[in-house]
Formats: sequence, C-alpha cells, structure tokens
Amino acid sequence: MTLIYKKMKTICLVLLFISVSSADDARVNFGVEDGTNAKLAEQRNYQSSPIQNYNTEFSNEPYAIGFNYHDYEQMTKFLRLTTSKFPSLTALYSIGKSVQGRDLWVMVVSASPYEHMIGKPDVKYVANMHGNEAVSRELMLHLIHYLVTSYATDPYVRWMLDNTRIHILPSMNPDGFEVSKEGTCEGGQGRYNARGFDLNRNFPDYFKQNNRRPQPETEAVKEWVSKIQFVLSGSLHGGALVASYPFDNTPNSLFQNYAAPSLTPDDDVFKHLSLVYSSNHAKMGRGVSCKSSTPGFKQGITNGAAWYPLTGGMQDFNYVWHGCMEVTLEVSCCKYPPANELPRYWEDNKMSLVKFLSEAHRGIQGFVMDDNGNPLEKVSLKIKSRDIGFQTTKYGEFWRILLPGVYKLEAYADGYVPREIEFMVVNDHPTLLNVTLYVAKRKDGPTYYRPQQQHQPPQYHQHLGPPYDQQPQGSGILSSLSSGFNNFFGSIFG
Ligand SMILES: [Zn+2]
Repeated sequence: MTLIYKKMKTICLVLLFISVSSADDARVNFGVEDGTNAKLAEQRNYQSSPIQNYNTEFSNEPYAIGFNYHDYEQMTKFLRLTTSKFPSLTALYSIGKSVQGRDLWVMVVSASPYEHMIGKPDVKYVANMHGNEAVSRELMLHLIHYLVTSYATDPYVRWMLDNTRIHILPSMNPDGFEVSKEGTCEGGQGRYNARGFDLNRNFPDYFKQNNRRPQPETEAVKEWVSKIQFVLSGSLHGGALVASYPFDNTPNSLFQNYAAPSLTPDDDVFKHLSLVYSSNHAKMGRGVSCKSSTPGFKQGITNGAAWYPLTGGMQDFNYVWHGCMEVTLEVSCCKYPPANELPRYWEDNKMSLVKFLSEAHRGIQGFVMDDNGNPLEKVSLKIKSRDIGFQTTKYGEFWRILLPGVYKLEAYADGYVPREIEFMVVNDHPTLLNVTLYVAKRKDGPTYYRPQQQHQPPQYHQHLGPPYDQQPQGSGILSSLSSGFNNFFGSIFG
C-alpha cells in the first residue's frame, strides 16, 4: 500500500510540475471575453490585455439591470453589455462549461480588470451553485451593476476597485437554474447539475475520502482557484438566512448522529468574517428565523458542521487547499421567490456584499524574497499555532486575514533556512511584512538544514489513502499538522 502510494505521489508530482509550467507560459489570466471575440473565452486562452474595438451591438443600449430573473441568455447579454459599457472596469471570462455546454462566466470588476495588481488581493463571489437558489444569482448581477456605476461617485467603491480585483461567478450551475421554477421556496428541482450531482458535495474533502465523480463545473472551479490566489470568498446560497463558516465537515461524524462544531484554527477570523456579513445585513444579524418551528441562528452565523456536517463542500476546499477564506452565505429563506421580492433582497444584502469583500484588506500581507530580492513562489507559510498553511504566489506575495494581535509567521521553502518572524496586526490597516529567505548551506557548511518532517502532508491523508488528486498541491498547504488531534485521528484509521 505504502509503496503504491509513494509511486502515485511521484507520478503526480511530475504531472503537477508539467501542468504548473504550462500554466506559467500561458499567463495568469483566463481567456477574456470582450464582446467581439467570444471564441477567446470558449477556447480558454490566456490573455493579458483587452482588444480595443468593442462590439457596437450595445452602443445604443442603456445600461441597466432589472429586478427580474435572468436566464442564461439574458445573463450573458447583461455581462457582455457591462464589458462593452465599462471596458476599463470589467473583464468577462469563462472558467469552463457546464454539463450542457453553458459557459461559467466570471466577471472581474476592478480598476485593473485584465491584470493582477501585484501586492493587492483578488477576491471572489460564487453564486447559484445550487441552480434553484436563484436570489444569489440576481444579487451578483446587481452587485456588478452597482460597483461599476458607483465607481465615479462613491469613494468607498472607488477605493475597493482601485485596490482589489473582485471576481464574480454569478452562476456556477447554469443548467440547474434553467430547470428551476420561480416561486418554489423549497425542494431539490434544479439544485443539482445536469447529471444529478450536488456541486457542494463534489470537492475533495479534508476529513473524508470523497468518491463522487468530479463534475465539469467543479473541475472548472478547482482549476480557477489553483490559478488565481484568492484571499477571500463568499459562496452564495438560499433556503436559510445565515453566514456559515468552515469546517463543514468533521472528523467525528462516523461516531455521532448529531451536529457538533468543527472549528478551524482560524475560528476567530471566520466568526468575524461571518459577522461582517450578518451584521451589515438588514435581517441576518438579528437571527431572524426562517420558520416559526425552528430557532434562528444567534447573530446570524454558524459553524458549518454545527449546523449539519457535509462531505465535499466548497468552502473547506478553498480554505484547506488554497488558503482562501470562504464563507457560505445563505441569503434567502425562500430559494426562488417571486421576482417582485428581488428589490428587497438586494437592499437587504447590498451593504453586506461590499463590506464582506473589503475584509481582504485586514491582517498581514507582504512578499517573500531571496537575498537577491527575487520573489520566491510556493513558499509554505503558516501563522504559528494555526495549523492550516498557505503559500506565496509567483510574485512572492502572500496575504492572511487576521484580527488585531501579535503573531508569528513561519516561512519554509526547500533549500532555504526556515524563518519565524513576529509581527503585530492592528485594526485599521493591514500589516506589511517582507520576508527574506537565505539559501541553506550544504552539509559542509555550519547551517545545514534538512526539510523538516512537519512539512510533509498530514499523516491521516496517508492513512485514509485518498486518490492523489485529492491531495493539496504541494506539501506546504497543509504544512505541519502534527497536533494530538491528528495523531488521534491517525491512530483510529491507521
Ligand atoms: Zn445551496
């Protein structure tokens, strides 16, 4: 078993290297849709600059978004209209296609829509992953409209777009939406993708082996989040009124029939992020209950597993695999309410949607470089005593959302002397921290370092033996998980 695992690991590492190299050649950006060349997006080419001659199709069309539901064609038209009206603030790209061939459109809204701004965070919203949870999809279209039309007049929006790239995927499950019915508050019609898979059970799982067949929508999101380092994310749903934070799954659910909290080492941060959403929401923060028979959530937030545990969810995947803090935002008691209620939903959520994303500018950020000032990519980073790691980008950048306090950053890269640096986080602005790593001397030198055992993937992944493609990319993401908890888990399954 162990031998097979090691061989698989070697093969996969080689494959990983190849795919990373080719992605590098192809640049960071996904194919960009500009209204004249839809093929670009369909081919998923990588392009770094816009084509200037925009389609004149929209030249006489006013820029507006109605409070009605937009099917795939209408949504696509609105997104193209937006890029044609606001070419310097938006870019449209597709991360892939649904089972039935619909594009999974992402709109970037930013003062730099076509290029990552070095040192500034990328954030995202993913909506409508359950196709019948339709409010979120419309909220995203209204958010896009609000951001681009407020840029010139609203200093806060301007600051956000000047300092952040906001990526919005209004519908992760466009096929499901097409078979959903307006006015249907509950039930599962349209929830699943066209092959009947629940996309929020379709991701690699931190705690359990997930044997469900990966779906094209999920694969597209996995590739997307592996190419762009998102700092913060919201996954929008409906059917409840609550901000639900990781973990969604738990190591214990085999042994219990009730839901219990499954807390991350960043629990304080996740609670804070959830409260930012719920407290800026017109109702959520008051713990309004959706049904008189069930109590509301205290302050409108909950730990995911404490609500109900699930395997293969997207938020745990974002956090554990990619260091992106994602919160699940349940924005409507009714999954697909009548369209005449949409103005109220937009007003209820508007402030939350903007304020939540600005939290990407809280905590620590900086660059890791070698002693010649060259950026170091894929350096394994960890906030001491918070055993879920993160990594630097190809520019050597890193971000981590943290509340005010004193922390230590641990930095580790193969061939370099590991470092531990103390820093302080304050409330008002992010702490900037640049880290230099020095090349480790070889055996004959006085400071020879071996890669430390603690930077291997966590033991229980090996005990459970999931397919390697469910492993995080590189050992650093889950660096140094060696707590008693994991020993306990390993001993049960070993
Ligand atoms: Zn949902």
